[in-house]
Amino acid sequence: MIIVMRPDATEEEVAGLVERLHSIGAVVRVSPERARTLLDVSAESLLEGEGPWEMFPGVESVIPEVPGGRRVGREFMREDTVVSVGPVPIGDGSLVVVAGPCAVESRDQLMTTATAVTGAGARMLRGDAFKPRTSPYTFQGLGKAGLEMLAEARELTGLPFVAEVLDPRDVELVASYADMIRIGTRNMSNHSLLREVGRQSRPVMLKRGMGATVEEWIDAAEYVHSEGNNGIVLVERGVRGFDGSARNTLDLTAVPVAKTLTHLPVMVDPSHAAGRKDLVAPLARAAVAVGADGVLIDVHPSPEEALVDGPQALLPEEFAALMVELRAVADAVGLR
Ligand code: PEP
Ligand code: MN
Repeated sequence: MIIVMRPDATEEEVAGLVERLHSIGAVVRVSPERARTLLDVSAESLLEGEGPWEMFPGVESVIPEVPGGRRVGREFMREDTVVSVGPVPIGDGSLVVVAGPCAVESRDQLMTTATAVTGAGARMLRGDAFKPRTSPYTFQGLGKAGLEMLAEARELTGLPFVAEVLDPRDVELVASYADMIRIGTRNMSNHSLLREVGRQSRPVMLKRGMGATVEEWIDAAEYVHSEGNNGIVLVERGVRGFDGSARNTLDLTAVPVAKTLTHLPVMVDPSHAAGRKDLVAPLARAAVAVGADGVLIDVHPSPEEALVDGPQALLPEEFAALMVELRAVADAVGLR
């Protein structure tokens, strides 16, 4: 079962309940840093005759186990999950625009971009230190040095950042710097990586595999949740289609479908879906209109010199113009 604590539950109330559960032999996973603390309690046979847990101070509700069901499923929790990334809540009815370069290439490139997107109203930064490249001979990312620059950009702008992790051996390193960890499309089915990010305390952004169904994507989220991490945001980023006119086909249907099937926030990455910048603004507007909780936008101060994904990157001034459009669409659909 899951015990949902009230948003205003005190640390003492949480600790007191955990102690009580431990004392009767229950295994408890505490998931803090979310809109509210969740206690994931197993070994239920030991709990028979105990409770009712709703009566304990600070408890809001108790969600019983659904046999064979998914914890990320709507049937498990009717209420929308709000995922907190540092000070930024995702899924609370406000628009979250995440912006920055595809890859951290240099200190200058990152700071220029970070300052510009912050000024335009982005609420989170993106930028990768580990890049999943098609060829092993192309730029693979700056690694730890890139993470250090991202932490500096966070200092400079006050915005939390998300960065990709490729290898289970790097999860701890990335989690020690990033406010949110991203699993890319190529790793959506990498179950050992999903379990590893599920075991740490940072929220996770899970991109849809480019050949994955919505059900497979949600099952991947369940792998993360099964290890105790319920801070998961789904990201639609386009699937492989038969039409080569854009890099991928952005599946906007997946947004309301995933929101019906799960209680997780859903975002859209029009930059990686399109692969070309002229499509980024129309797809981003459509994503907000269809009900996404936010979008991820690639921005680069000199896209022609970008080491990765230059053709899809917006210039800072193009990004600023897009932000004005997105605000209007958000207002129209009732997103703050
Ligand atoms: C990215 O966001 O930089 C990225 C590599 O995206 P995807 O995994 O969707 O290709
Ligand atoms: Mn990219």
